[in-house]
Amino acid sequence: MTRYVMVADLNRCVGCQTCTAACKHTNATPPGVQWRKVLDVEMGEYPNVERLFMPVGCQHCSDPPCMEVCPSTATGQRKDGIVTIDYDICIGCSYCAVACPYQARYKVETPRFAYGEQPTETEALRFDEGRIGVAQKCTFCSDRVDAGLARGLKPGVDPDATPACANACIANALTFGDLEDPDSNVSKLLTDNTWFRMHEELGTEPGFFYLWNEK
Ligand code: SF4
Ligand code: SF4
Repeated sequence: MTRYVMVADLNRCVGCQTCTAACKHTNATPPGVQWRKVLDVEMGEYPNVERLFMPVGCQHCSDPPCMEVCPSTATGQRKDGIVTIDYDICIGCSYCAVACPYQARYKVETPRFAYGEQPTETEALRFDEGRIGVAQKCTFCSDRVDAGLARGLKPGVDPDATPACANACIANALTFGDLEDPDSNVSKLLTDNTWFRMHEELGTEPGFFYLWNEK
């Protein structure tokens, strides 16, 4: 079995948003839609204040509430754990967006472009009518993963089979890989570091782990 997950090292992330830009470029998301975001978090009380940067997005939960509430079966889960949306089946009811505890889902009702009503040349080329009026979110770049696998590449190791955000990170803060493989990069990171998952108490079993070693 395979379970693809992302590990974000909060000790390394510098909040540069390169991952956000790489995601927007790769997935051609419109203005206001960020499948990969980085939160700027301030903790503690003056003068003992700490600032950290936290990459967020769809957590590809093992037990995803978004899938449970989806009345059309548009939201699904692959055998490798990636949570998917079938744009052809989605009816745009947004139940999933309400159910998602991680605010990972978006819906765009009308085409949006960077500079007014007309798309730029690149936007026109990459515009996907199928994403209008339906739910959308991070896919863990499943198209890259699948294309890489078909070429015999290893997701998380070979860049062509790895999500764009992890490839682009300037600080080596994002690592993608198979949690079920004890020798994978993600398994080793989780063995060697202290980690947590967001809203563990909800029982969603997120596929997104955060390394946070107290200094
Ligand atoms: S983070 Fe939200 S959208 Fe992603 S799988 Fe979990 S519940 Fe669904
Ligand atoms: S690219 Fe890396 S360092 Fe920059 S914000 Fe994203 S995760 Fe953090």
